[in-house]
Amino acid sequence: MSGEAFRCLNGGIEYELRCDGCGGAFHCHDDSFYSWDLLCAAAEAEGWRVEPDFEGEHECGACMARATFKHHRHRFAASRAA
Ligand SMILES: [Zn+2]
Repeated sequence: MSGEAFRCLNGGIEYELRCDGCGGAFHCHDDSFYSWDLLCAAAEAEGWRVEPDFEGEHECGACMARATFKHHRHRFAASRAA
């Protein structure tokens, strides 16, 4: 649930993509924010995990790296216990 749409002054719609983990917004460097699909593609290209669904889960590269790290630690602990 991290997509937001804004109606801007010129009547167009701008989209904003936020990370579910840290709340940080994705900043694109072109006019991708006029299209949700383009914005998702731009974020994915920069290492975000993006679900095509507007209400889906979105994570920035930093949060994805943290999640992967946690996952590995968990597996390490499990293999030690076995
Ligand atoms: Zn994040």
